[in-house]
Parts: sequence; C-alpha cells; structure tokens
Amino acid sequence: MARYGELFLKSKPVKFHFIGMLLRNIGKALSASGLSYHFETPRGRILIHGNQPEAISSVVSRIFGIVDVSICSRTSPRLDDICGEAVSLASANLRAGMSFAVRAKRQQKTGLDSQELGTLIGSAVFDHIPGLEVDLDTPDYEIFVEVRDFGGLVYDSRIAAPGGLPWGTQGRVLALLSSGIDSPVASWLMMKRGCETTHLHLDAGRWAGKDVALAAIENHRRLSRWCPGNPLSLVIADSEILYDRMDELHIAPRYRCVICKRFMQRVAGCLMEKEGALAVITGENLGQVASQTLANLSVISEAVMIPVLRPLITYDKEEIIALARRIGTFDAHPGDLTCRTVPSMPATAAILEVIKKCEEKMNIEEITDGTLSEIQFVIALNGEIVKDM
Ligand code: ATP
Ligand code: MG
Repeated sequence: MARYGELFLKSKPVKFHFIGMLLRNIGKALSASGLSYHFETPRGRILIHGNQPEAISSVVSRIFGIVDVSICSRTSPRLDDICGEAVSLASANLRAGMSFAVRAKRQQKTGLDSQELGTLIGSAVFDHIPGLEVDLDTPDYEIFVEVRDFGGLVYDSRIAAPGGLPWGTQGRVLALLSSGIDSPVASWLMMKRGCETTHLHLDAGRWAGKDVALAAIENHRRLSRWCPGNPLSLVIADSEILYDRMDELHIAPRYRCVICKRFMQRVAGCLMEKEGALAVITGENLGQVASQTLANLSVISEAVMIPVLRPLITYDKEEIIALARRIGTFDAHPGDLTCRTVPSMPATAAILEVIKKCEEKMNIEEITDGTLSEIQFVIALNGEIVKDM
C-alpha cells in the first residue's frame, strides 16, 4: 500500500490527473525493475498487488509523490479475519517482555469506532502471546490495521518515501549540473517537486580538473535512478573559450567567478526554450562561496531575463551533504575537481557596470554562440548511461 501526501489538497480533477501520473510513474518504475504488478486505487490509497512485495516496496518507496509504503496482508472485512491476521503477524514478531500497540483506523462511520477496534485487536494479541505489555506511546512493536469498504489491511511497518509531487506534473526545468555536491541535490529537489529535468554541464576543458566532466556525468547517471523508465538528458557544452578569453584579455581575476556564473545563465537561457524548460535551477547557496553573496547573486541573475530557482539557497552544507548521501549522489573520493580559474580573492560585491564592461570587452555574445555550437548529449536511463557523447 502506497500513501500519497499533498494530493489530498487538490481539487477533484487535479487529483485525478496527479494520481494518473503517479500510477504511470510507479508502473514505469516497476516495469524497469522487471516486476509484475496490478493496481487498485481505493480512496486515498494505492494498492499494488504483486508476488515480490519486498522488491515492489523498495522501488515504490523512491517514487516522488508517495509519502510511505507498507507491505500489507489483505483480509475480508470480517472482524475475526482481521483479528486473526493481526494475531498471526504479531506472533511472528513479538516475544514475551516486549511492548506493543495497535493502531487501528476504520473507514465506515457505523459499528465499532477506531479506538474500540484497536482495543479489540489489542486484546486478541494480548491473549494469544504471553508476557506482553501494552504501550501506546513508545511501543517496541506496532501493528497497523485499516478497515475499509473492500476489506481489512494489516501491516507492521511504514517505509518512508520521498513525498513531494508526482514527477512530470510541474513542467520541465533546466538544471545546471556540476561535478560538485550541491547541484545534484538541487536538481533532485526539483524532481521531487514534480519537475522533469534536463541537465546542463559546462565543460571548461583545460581549465577544469581532469575528473570534472566525468563526475558531472556520474551525478547525472545517479540522478536518473529517481525517474526510472524515463530517459534523462544531459547537455554538455564546451566553455573552454570563456576562460581562454578572460586570460588573454587579462580580466581582473576577482571578477572571474561572477562572469563565469553569468555566462552559465546566458547559455542556459538560450537552451531553455529548445529544451521546453520553464526555469533554470542552480545549486547556489547563500554565502557558501564568494560568488554566492546576495550582491553577487543579483548581478548573476541580471545576465538574463529568465526565472532562476535556487532550491538550496537557505540550506547549511551539512544538510546538503546529508541529502546527497540519501539521494546517492555523494562521492567521498570524487577525484580531481579543481577549478583552475578561481582566484584567491574573488569579489564579494561585484559592480554590475564593471562586469558588463568586462563582458563587452570579451565579446561575450560571440563566446556564448561558440559554446552553444559545441553541444553533446548524454542520456541516462535507470541509473545507466545509454547514449554517450
Ligand atoms: P556544486 O555547487 O554543485 O557543489 P560547485 O561547488 O563546483 O558545485 P559552485 O561554484 O558552487 O559549484 O557553483 C554554483 C552552481 O553553479 C552549482 O551548484 C551549479 O548549479 C552551477 N555550476 C557550477 N559549475 C558548473 C558547471 N561546470 N556546469 C554547469 N553548472 C555549473
Ligand atoms: Mg557549490
């Protein structure tokens, strides 16, 4: 049984549409893992029937829009059947000296209420297994029972899923993906919120550490595990010329980071429409590095008239790393990811007019066109690269 969260709040037609997307996503994910299944969708729940419940629950607990998943036994609506199932599940898991609680829920408004149902089942468990203690606050073991129109559901665990909104319900975004820790998390957060993503990596060539492009592709590959059954595109654009030009023209080193990030926005702005994206996503985070002061972020945003979303803006680094570990994009030994253009003292409050003058001198438009003419695609599907450059 999969529970969905926020979809409850939607109007009927929107909910219907979102649940349809959710079922499509679950179906694609299960098929991608070679699992057979069929659905039942009673009010407020998705029931997935299949003969590999552990494998199914592990796939479904990674689907955006799902809050948690339980492996259930399904019984008839008769109380003795439900009680019998609860007792047999408890017998397999409870031993003398342990405490337990029954959490019961009833859909019907007539007959026993939820509390009475819980007490009834609790007594049956208590009578069958000697030496137990009831503890409703912090029990060692919980049994959940739901009585619905179609029958009873009995289970003893709730596997947390990511929540959010069904993937594909919120349109497409173009996410700037680096070799680092932050941007994969930013992209994942947008996926979790229902967005399809196209990734964009700018390859600085000789100005980037030798493992940078590979690590960005690895981030992309790992993120594709979160939209199983759907190919994920990464655009790689060659941006070496930008850094060559800053070097040749002796642009003040302290402006390089802001010029670099404005350039990324320019390239993203040009690709957005082609990719059908409605916003650009970055992993920028307030105060993390010199280019991410409020003053610099506003100079960066000024480069193009596009919506730029920064889902990590208020996160602490520790929080980002914890999420990256959970998502599976954290890499403890990522290799040589140095940036060879980063100055020792980057400007923390670049003046827009000064930056614009530098860009004019560099002929930034021509550089942008050059970068856009050198793009390649890497497609990932189900955690594997299926089409390489
Ligand atoms: P990250 O922030 O992802 O850990 P980073 O620390 O190397 O990577 P920053 O300098 O913090 O990068 O860059 C801020 C944001 O700019 C990144 O989160 C990412 O969205 C984007 N970005 C940085 N480098 C690149 C790149 N080479 N290609 C595409 N986007 C990039
Ligand atoms: Mg960063």
